[in-house]
Amino acid sequence: MMIESNELEPMVQPPREMSASIRSLRELIETASGRAVKAHLDQEDSGRAEILPFPFLALVGQIEMKLALLLALINPNVGGVLLIGPRGTGKTTAIRGLVDLLPDVPRSLCYYGCMPEDIEIGGIDAVCPDCARKYALNEPMAALDRVRLVELPLNAQLNDVVGGIDERAAIHERIRLRRGILAQADKNLLHVDEVNLLADEVVDAILDASAQGAYTIRRGPMAATYRSQFALIGSMNPEEGNLRPQIFDRFGLRIVVRGLTNVDERLEAYKRTAAYLSGPRKLIGYYEADTKLVKQEIQSARDTVTKVIIPEEISSLALEIIRALQIDSLRAEITLFEAAKAYAAMDGRQEVCAEDLRVVTPMAVRMRRSIFMNQYFAERIKEEEEISQTITTIIHPKNQEKKHETL
Ligand SMILES: [Zn+2]
Repeated sequence: MMIESNELEPMVQPPREMSASIRSLRELIETASGRAVKAHLDQEDSGRAEILPFPFLALVGQIEMKLALLLALINPNVGGVLLIGPRGTGKTTAIRGLVDLLPDVPRSLCYYGCMPEDIEIGGIDAVCPDCARKYALNEPMAALDRVRLVELPLNAQLNDVVGGIDERAAIHERIRLRRGILAQADKNLLHVDEVNLLADEVVDAILDASAQGAYTIRRGPMAATYRSQFALIGSMNPEEGNLRPQIFDRFGLRIVVRGLTNVDERLEAYKRTAAYLSGPRKLIGYYEADTKLVKQEIQSARDTVTKVIIPEEISSLALEIIRALQIDSLRAEITLFEAAKAYAAMDGRQEVCAEDLRVVTPMAVRMRRSIFMNQYFAERIKEEEEISQTITTIIHPKNQEKKHETL
């Protein structure tokens, strides 16, 4: 999706006026992102750039990447997003900007992350003594908090990821289990960078927890089950190594992120980066009204996505595409259907149409086709035919002759 060149002229309208005429979330993203920003090179609050994320809507171009990330926020059933591309193409910037687009979530006030629903599910022993006391006194165990981006450290070990024995508690009292990164990611976003470089056991643990929304760890006689409902976003640079096909398959949407090819877009991207570096608050303020609007739209799409239906003629089209592309994995259609529902919800509709398929199918099916497997199956089919032919020839040669005679 190219941005019209006239949208790259310096800003003439304040963001608020633009917002009023925008119909859908997608339109909002395209319009806000396509609008040019004048670089203000004053020194307002510089040095705080790391804390304040670059506004998601200020990213130039990369429409498909932005769409995929939003679809994953709207519908957790799409099964996460994998961003594939070289460094410096805005992958991490886009992911970090997502936190401003998500509504607040209830968050535990305790070190162990106990939540009221833990008691509902597992009884009073499911929380720490402190929280059990709070519960008995009817004191709050959780408070509303903004969604966080949990970034998996590059050298993460399995124990960091799933949790383990808590040495801090073991000194004072009975041995307790410590929550891992996956439990901390509950109700948050989990970004796994360089997913292709992680140990297999770590990636497997992340994908299992993400798919099931909970996981259990066992350490000696102790076991604990933790909630792990998060939007999973992986990123990788293919120059640094491949991802095993079975891991690849488990990511729902796949986006190939290339650098911007249009020189005007590149110049605009530079201007916005310069504006951000010299005064992040000013740039954030510029996109504030639209960011708020997108946040509301995401919330309403999240509320309605489970009601979206796919008419039979539309699902047949999708399955026909997958068959024609010779894709085996059932995850292709699961992702495709769920992404199409999210896309329809994003557009304020409760029924998927053919146009939704056109937009989301590439993200759901690309890189799922295996030339190796297709050749392998073709050879197997040929072999089966030869076997069956041979059996017929040797066991029932007379039948075959008879058949020929009657013909
Ligand atoms: Zn607690």
